[in-house]
Amino acid sequence: MPTLSPKRAIAAFCRFCLYDPKGGCGTALEQIRACTARDCPLWLHRPGAARVPRPRTAAQLAAQAAGRERLVSMRQAARGASAAAP
Ligand code: SF4
Repeated sequence: MPTLSPKRAIAAFCRFCLYDPKGGCGTALEQIRACTARDCPLWLHRPGAARVPRPRTAAQLAAQAAGRERLVSMRQAARGASAAAP
């Protein structure tokens, strides 16, 4: 039995699970992409799955906001320095 990469194994399993070549519902990729079984553990990893951003923690959001504020203050300081220059 050939060994498959995890990605190819998932693709093969999804194809086995869902693909109906005579159903008239599109190609294997189209059918697997349209899979609605969100409870399936492979759903996020199925071929053609849209990338879903992971939710950020409160600490990550706070760090992002602090970084944004730091960037704004640096830009304001740079503008002030260029306006004061002759
Ligand atoms: S993600 Fe959908 S197509 Fe793939 S194994 Fe799960 S139920 Fe089947």
